Amino acid sequence: MCAIRQTIDEKVVLIAWGLVRRDDAMPQTILLLQDNASKAAIARELLAASSDGPFAVEWIRSCAAGVSRLKDRTKNGIAAILLDLFLPDAQELETFDRIFQASPDIPILVLSRLEHEEVAKQAVQRGAQDYLIDDRLDSSFLSKALRNMLERAANAEALFIEKERAQVTLNSIGDAVISTDVAGSVTYLNHVAEVMTGWPSAEALGRPFSDVFRIIDSANPEHAVNPMTMAMQQNKTVGLTAGCSLIRRDGFKSAIEDSAAPIHDRRGQVTGAVIVFHDVTEARAMSQRMSYLANHDYLTDLPNRLLLNDRLSQAMASARRHQHQLAVLFVDVDRFKHVNDSLGHVIGDQLLLSIAGRLVASVRGSDTVSRQGGDEFVILLSTIAQAEDAALSANKILIALGMPHQVKEHVLQITVSMGIGIYPDDGIDAETLVKNADIAMLHAKDNGRSNYQFFKPDMNEHALERQSLESGLRHALDRREFVLYYQPKMNLETEAITGAEALIRWRQPGQGIVLPEKFIPIAEQCGYIVPIGRWVLREACRQAQRWLDADLAPIPVAINISAVELRSKDFVPGVRAVLQETGLDAQYLEFELTETALMQDPTSTIAVLRALKDMGAQLTLDDFGTGYSSLSYLKRFPIDALKIDKSFVRGLCTDAGDANIVSAVINMGKSFRLRVIAEGVETREQFLALQAQHCTEGQGYYFQEPLAATEFAKLLGSDLSATVVA
Ligand code: C2E
Ligand code: CA
Ligand code: CA
Repeated sequence: MCAIRQTIDEKVVLIAWGLVRRDDAMPQTILLLQDNASKAAIARELLAASSDGPFAVEWIRSCAAGVSRLKDRTKNGIAAILLDLFLPDAQELETFDRIFQASPDIPILVLSRLEHEEVAKQAVQRGAQDYLIDDRLDSSFLSKALRNMLERAANAEALFIEKERAQVTLNSIGDAVISTDVAGSVTYLNHVAEVMTGWPSAEALGRPFSDVFRIIDSANPEHAVNPMTMAMQQNKTVGLTAGCSLIRRDGFKSAIEDSAAPIHDRRGQVTGAVIVFHDVTEARAMSQRMSYLANHDYLTDLPNRLLLNDRLSQAMASARRHQHQLAVLFVDVDRFKHVNDSLGHVIGDQLLLSIAGRLVASVRGSDTVSRQGGDEFVILLSTIAQAEDAALSANKILIALGMPHQVKEHVLQITVSMGIGIYPDDGIDAETLVKNADIAMLHAKDNGRSNYQFFKPDMNEHALERQSLESGLRHALDRREFVLYYQPKMNLETEAITGAEALIRWRQPGQGIVLPEKFIPIAEQCGYIVPIGRWVLREACRQAQRWLDADLAPIPVAINISAVELRSKDFVPGVRAVLQETGLDAQYLEFELTETALMQDPTSTIAVLRALKDMGAQLTLDDFGTGYSSLSYLKRFPIDALKIDKSFVRGLCTDAGDANIVSAVINMGKSFRLRVIAEGVETREQFLALQAQHCTEGQGYYFQEPLAATEFAKLLGSDLSATVVA
């Protein structure tokens, strides 16, 4: 705005300023047209003696000679003409007209006798500057008159030049300029103003300013103030209210920005006003676009975090006023990373678009669906009567998103996990409410995904603990805080050690030993599991090789592989590299995989399992009975052993159902010629029951709790009956 004001002030000055000083040192040539020699001599004398000069006088006696002298461009320029209207070849006004026509720019001072004063006056009306009665001439009188006339002419010329300069300037600047008189009639428009208002100067001049300059204020369409009136009333430069649009004569609208300033006369009185404005349609559109971009997600075009926070705060204020509730749904796509990793980002993006579309279709128009980034969406249900309404919406979303998504040639099936936060119970500010919905969403994930959870206050504690685990995990590898424990697997008939399962422990400083159940799921979600798994693999292989080198019983070591690791591209090459690095023969390496891990992408999993088998390693299906337990898959996967989940072993002697499952699994193993290992054997009773059913192996506290490597070595050393399973 400042810059605009400055240009206005300059322009006002430019218009008002018209005087330039002349260089007075050079004599000015005066053309004296006079046929009377004595009068001519007097005039020349008077001028020569004058202190207003210096003047150089050229004396010519006839009108014709005067005209030709004036037209003669080879001679010095004439500054002024002293003209007697009665010459031998021309009389009265004819004389004047001929001389004036020959050179209309040169000021003429008529010398007249008293009886011809009337003619002299007519000459003045036709363009002479003034007249003098020649028989009353005296030195100062004549030269003063001449000097005044010359100065007037110079001033007029300077003013003309300045006006011309102002005109050219005003027509060549990009801004539109209009000025008015104090009554508000247009006195001037530059070219840009003509174009922008649609009013040619000729039509606009003299009209009321508000006819030519019609504006509307987007904030207040009824009433847009006239900036010129304001500038004159307040006698200061005023800026137009933001968001003004100019209506061109033909109705076309353009956004403008302007300021108006009063014009003063020499005494400081306001004589009018000038307004300078320019088209900001593009700039305004650009700024609108920028603010749109800042508030929306580039991919889905949904409101982003910023805009959601805004709307949420507004909705909260309204809920407070009207005493109702609102809900925030935090939606996270389950295993979205898998889609991105396996099908690429382009497909991932398309899937997100499809999800966004369905989310929007699942809620009311007054609700807000926003994308927080990645595969996270937050939905604001701005008015709900009761918390159950949010559950209804959540269910609707689960169903809508569960339908297959057609993305290019792929048909993708996804699920989402959702957390719900209710205002005011779960947070009275936007940030807290969204954070708590997020926490509830994590619980939904832990709860097996594809479901929703309402936030509960105790989730917070859990979330804090999780946060501390997550940040601790980030450095746990570097800080060598992990350690492997080993638990033996026993031959149930001979009670010899048949193998060892490596179980990871985290010695978190100040927290003691953290069990894997607590941190493995987090490591999986944060992507730390891959490097951690690689460490487990290397550490277990190194340990197994050390035991072999120490001539202890040659048994395989089993490591647990999570689904995330199995899907990572480098898994098989990584195993190969570690075997090579540690020198361990693959027959001493066993992998425990859960059914759920295998079922996530059976086709590619089979290839991975094949590669591991081809290396010579063994494969065990862990936690058997808790997942799909599909016979057809059992046949397709190249596995060596089944591990009966400890939940069934626990109920083996007390629960008929569990007992049935255990014997079914044992029989299934036998018919597929697989080893069957019962895990979680805690009592002698369980041991005997398993033995009676000819379960091949067992593992559990009844035999041995997981031990540190050195302890386990002692166990191996003392176990002379240890056998190797081929
Ligand atoms: P899992 O593979 O089913 O491992 C067996 C779990 O049962 C171990 O718990 C073990 O200490 C425990 N256990 C052994 N005997 C008994 C018993 O008689 N009764 C009962 N109730 N439990 C017994 P742990 O070490 O806490 O490991 C828990 C889970 O963490 C494991 O379940 C496995 O899924 C995962 N895990 C452990 N280490 C690793 C690892 O290095 N990598 C990966 N990805 N997962 C691991
Ligand atoms: Ca296991
Ligand atoms: Ca298990």
